[in-house]
Amino acid sequence: MLDVCLLGTAGMMPLPNRWLTSLMLRYNGSSLLIDSGEGTQIAIKEAGLSFKPIDILCVTHFHADHISGLPGLLLTMGNADRTEPLTIIGPKGLTRVVEALRTIAPELPFEIICRELKEPNEVIEMNGYEIHAFRVQHKVVCYGYSVEIHRAGKFSVERAKEQDVPMKLWSRLQKGEIIEQDGITYTPQMVLGAPRKGLKVTYCTDTRPLDSIVEAAKDSDLFICEGMYAEKEKLAKAKQYKHMTFYEAADMAKRANVQELWLTHFSPSLVRPQEYLPEVQKIFPNAHLGKDGKSVELVFQEE
Ligand SMILES: [Zn+2]
Ligand SMILES: [Zn+2]
Repeated sequence: MLDVCLLGTAGMMPLPNRWLTSLMLRYNGSSLLIDSGEGTQIAIKEAGLSFKPIDILCVTHFHADHISGLPGLLLTMGNADRTEPLTIIGPKGLTRVVEALRTIAPELPFEIICRELKEPNEVIEMNGYEIHAFRVQHKVVCYGYSVEIHRAGKFSVERAKEQDVPMKLWSRLQKGEIIEQDGITYTPQMVLGAPRKGLKVTYCTDTRPLDSIVEAAKDSDLFICEGMYAEKEKLAKAKQYKHMTFYEAADMAKRANVQELWLTHFSPSLVRPQEYLPEVQKIFPNAHLGKDGKSVELVFQEE
C-alpha cells in the first residue's frame, strides 16, 4: 500500500488557500517528499502528516517555489526528534544550494546526505522505493520523478521443491533474505513465482511536454503533472516560460496510458481551474484537478 498526498497545488507563490506544489508518499513507515517550497511544512501539518519519518526529499529544481521552504522544514524535522540521516536528491549543484539554505538552520540533530543527479536518467533504490529521476525541459535544469513500489512474486511450493530448497529456509527466503548454507546460496527467486504488478506514481513539474516524460510516466497508476495555464490562449506564454497548459498535460497522460491524472502547479492568475476541466476530460477522461491535501491510498492489484 502506497499513500499519496498532494500537499499543495500552487505555482510561483503560495496563496491564502493554495500551498505550493509538493507531494508526500508514504510506504512501509518511510516517507518520501518531493519539493519543499515556502509553506510546505504548514501544508504537511494541515494534512495531518508527520515530519519524523521523512527519509527522502527529492528536489525537482532550484526555483524558490520548489525549495525555499527547506530550512524551516529541516528545523521542524529536528524538533520532531529525528536523528536518522535525511537523503536529498536533486540536480547538479544540490550540495551548494542546500549548504546555502542551511546557513539559517545550521544545527540539526540529523545528517544530510546530498545525492546530485548528473545523468538525464538515474535510478535510486531506497527504503522499498525505486526512484527514477528523469530530466525535463524548464528554464533551469529540472527533473521529474517516477516512484515505483515493486511487488515480488507469490510463494511457490513447486518452485521451491524443483530447486531443492530445504523447507526450513522457505519462509526466510520468502521474506527476501539471501541465505548461505552448506556452500549453496539460496535466493528469494528460488521460491517465488514471477513478479506481480507493483505501483507507480509519476510527478512532473515544471516543464514543457516531452516524449521522454511520456516514456517515464508510462502505465503509472497516478500521474501528477503541472498545468500552469488553463486558458488555451496562454499556450504561447507556456512555451515562453517553459510550462504547460492543462491540455498538454492531458495529452501526455493519454499517451503514457496512465490510470489517472491530477493537475497541479496552477498559476496565481488561475482562480477557477474547475471551469476548464470538461475540456481537459475530452482529451483524457480520468483527469482531475489537484487540491491541497488531496490524497489516495494505492493498493496492490488482487490477482
Ligand atoms: Zn514552479
Ligand atoms: Zn520553475
